[in-house]
Amino acid sequence: MILFGLIIIRDRERALAEGIERPCPACGRTQPHGLLETYRQAHLFFIPLWRWNWRRFLACDVCGQVESITAEEAGEICRRSE
Ligand SMILES: [Zn+2]
Repeated sequence: MILFGLIIIRDRERALAEGIERPCPACGRTQPHGLLETYRQAHLFFIPLWRWNWRRFLACDVCGQVESITAEEAGEICRRSE
């Protein structure tokens, strides 16, 4: 999305952790999961300005089942996986 020809808004995604072993509700077994974070970011030309609409997800590596989690849960998973 481009506003006023100067500010560009993009959705971003990054992986926070991989290979997190946990039960998958779709598979019904313990499977490796990836922890993903998405957010929306505004840029002025190529300069990043603001980030908002943060969301965290756990995605099963086997079946692709995606589960939304809170920032606190994501932080706890990151601490345990270190
Ligand atoms: Zn699964």
